[in-house]
Amino acid sequence: MSDPRQALFRKIPSVDLLLAHPEIDGALSTQPRGLVIRAIHEVLEAARKTIQMDRPVSDDDLEVDTIARDVITRIAVLSMPSLKNVVNASGVVVHTNLGRSLLADRVLAKFGSLAGGYSNLEYSLDQGHRGSRYTHVEYLLRELTGAEAGMVVNNNAAAVLLSLETLARGREVVVSRGQLVEIGGAFRIPDVMRKSGARMVEVGTTNKTHLKDYEAAIGPDTALLLKVHTSNFQIVGFTEEVPLSELVKLGRKHGIPVMDDLGSGCLLDFSQYGMIREPTVQEALDQGVGVVTFSGDKLLGGPQAGIILGQSDLVTAIRENQLSRALRIDKLTLLALEETLRMYRDPRMAVKDIPTLRMICYSYESLVESAERLHALVRDMDTKNFSVEQTDGHSKVGGGALPLQELKTRLLCLIPAGLSAQGMEKRLRHNTPPIIARVEKDRLMLDMRTIQEKEFQTVARAIKALAEVQPPKDRLERNP
Ligand SMILES: *Cc1c(COP(=O)(O)O)cnc(C)c1O
Repeated sequence: MSDPRQALFRKIPSVDLLLAHPEIDGALSTQPRGLVIRAIHEVLEAARKTIQMDRPVSDDDLEVDTIARDVITRIAVLSMPSLKNVVNASGVVVHTNLGRSLLADRVLAKFGSLAGGYSNLEYSLDQGHRGSRYTHVEYLLRELTGAEAGMVVNNNAAAVLLSLETLARGREVVVSRGQLVEIGGAFRIPDVMRKSGARMVEVGTTNKTHLKDYEAAIGPDTALLLKVHTSNFQIVGFTEEVPLSELVKLGRKHGIPVMDDLGSGCLLDFSQYGMIREPTVQEALDQGVGVVTFSGDKLLGGPQAGIILGQSDLVTAIRENQLSRALRIDKLTLLALEETLRMYRDPRMAVKDIPTLRMICYSYESLVESAERLHALVRDMDTKNFSVEQTDGHSKVGGGALPLQELKTRLLCLIPAGLSAQGMEKRLRHNTPPIIARVEKDRLMLDMRTIQEKEFQTVARAIKALAEVQPPKDRLERNP
């Protein structure tokens, strides 16, 4: 007996037949041939799989016109860039999965001309010969923080790795057990330490480490005392950490530098905006650390980068390490970092114009106003799918910064009726552009703190589209 599937396989149109189809022929005039052929192969492969797995296939499904339509859809998907803008309605300001910090308009304005032209990236215009790419930000970092010297690399993970490799390879680094952190995306202090070739000497306990613990661990092989900011969690209760200043004093006594991995590393004191105090970069330097490392795209609100500041001799050694060439910062990042840092010269401007800082500092009243404006755009809808309300809630700073800080916020809240909260979340995620919202208490929440003013119309349109959706039948039957 012959396999009934063979008859179906024979009905699948050929690649040549599809290429001659008017719609696909039309697509060839605007799309690269390779892309069109790839789309055809993918659609045909999917059809073969369906038959092979005995899933129901009708003759209609295998008609040239039907397959050609699938190919056109596939071409549209394949020709779209993978990396695209999304609307962050999650309320997490420094959202690592959504690209952390938005660059300020002033920074963006610089991109076109600099990226499209040559620059003095590594050229001293004064002397007419090779210069250093780090000079473009080092002067600013020194001016803003009082550091003796500074350099920048690809990200803070690289800054920590490079600093440890330079200052402690083959020797010992003393660190508290309470600070052996893991940061999202598999950055773990013990692992980075191993990669750097330094030997980790753990002291103290998870909740308590005393100065005498550090002192007892210091030996002839000790190269560094390391402090790591526990940026994404907090141990509360019966706890004790050695203050940085004490650690520096101990280090001085034994001629050993202290390294402080600050993580988010803010330049402004957030407590003046009514927030929990985060140690600033300036404070770490004032207390006499050897080197301090932090990210460019967390609380600083700039591009992804790792910043290393500290004593001249240590920073020079780090800069001269061969490994720094492999971790070096790209010119676009450098440009964005310089422009972001320039904004910090006027802290009021920084808080107003650096998006990360602006969003963290929004007052509750201004968020209520925003919610009111977005709400007004979707108020007169006639739908059985959901109702729209405003409610209070909390946003997060994110990015492993200020983990305990609750930021009071205003949310636009879609209360499910014909559509479920999960269903609406998924539809918004598949919107163009995608909108990332959160589901809380079986409601869909849109946090005003992270939705940009220019995105209000987009969000309103997506909500209106949700209102037009035909609710799935089974749900309607369950909720007559
Ligand atoms: C975030 C963080 C890092 C890693 O920084 P990236 O810029 O993400 O590479 C390292 N250490 C601490 C304490 C951090 O918070």
